[in-house]
Amino acid sequence: MKSIQAFACPVCEEIYKTEQGASKCEAACIKAKIEADKERQINAQLEELRNYVRLNAESVEDICKMSMEISKKLNKSQYIKEMTLRVRYVEHVSNSHSSPIGQPTNFGRKSDKPTGYPALYGSILFTYNKGGKLSGSDIFSKWGDRGIKGINTGSGGSRSGNNTYGYDVTLWLDDFPKIKEKIEKLHENIKEFHDFEMEIQNQYSDILEQDVDLAIKQARVKSLNEEILTLSAKRDVIQTESYHIQQKHKAPLAVFLDNKAKQFDNDFGIRVDRSF
Ligand SMILES: [Zn+2]
Repeated sequence: MKSIQAFACPVCEEIYKTEQGASKCEAACIKAKIEADKERQINAQLEELRNYVRLNAESVEDICKMSMEISKKLNKSQYIKEMTLRVRYVEHVSNSHSSPIGQPTNFGRKSDKPTGYPALYGSILFTYNKGGKLSGSDIFSKWGDRGIKGINTGSGGSRSGNNTYGYDVTLWLDDFPKIKEKIEKLHENIKEFHDFEMEIQNQYSDILEQDVDLAIKQARVKSLNEEILTLSAKRDVIQTESYHIQQKHKAPLAVFLDNKAKQFDNDFGIRVDRSF
């Protein structure tokens, strides 16, 4: 039996004839691992920054403030210096062009997929501190996977130069958990209030039903209304009859007057107003 000595890199377990070979591999492997760890760490930090606004904002105002702060951390030289959001809550916004993170879009409105989700929908206006490699909505997700997440810009573009841009904007509620919680609580309150309102309405109806005096008055009003209807029908008939009588008398007099007027015209050569 012939035996040979070999050396393995302790990291990747690659086999080498010489100890130097294995040591060299080990050093390279350790270096690569450190670099990979570093990159993973940087990516994780980047991911945290990109998600910071949507995961921490509790209001629309927060979204603007935090976007400005985070844009500065994502890109020191060019960042958002002003930002305004005009949005309102909409129960069902179409997911044709974007969707909540992890959910499908549905451009063709296919029936086997959702056609929309609750969102804050409206417009966004923002200004970069200066021109540069970022333009338009780059800072929101589209910038080589480095942008702020959760702010989905639609149609729009440059506004009045000066590095200002305006777009339609969709903020899916599912992407903003703290705002979602607030809105859900608000809806609960609204529902509670409606229930309370209904209860008061019912109480009111019960009180009215039990009031005998009101029942008598309402019955009287009802019978008077019926009387009024009958009388106005009669009035219409009599009015029509009286109109016909007037017309009957008017016709011969009009002919008489017309003839007189013509005679007058002939006698004096003056035009006379013949309306009657
Ligand atoms: Zn190795």
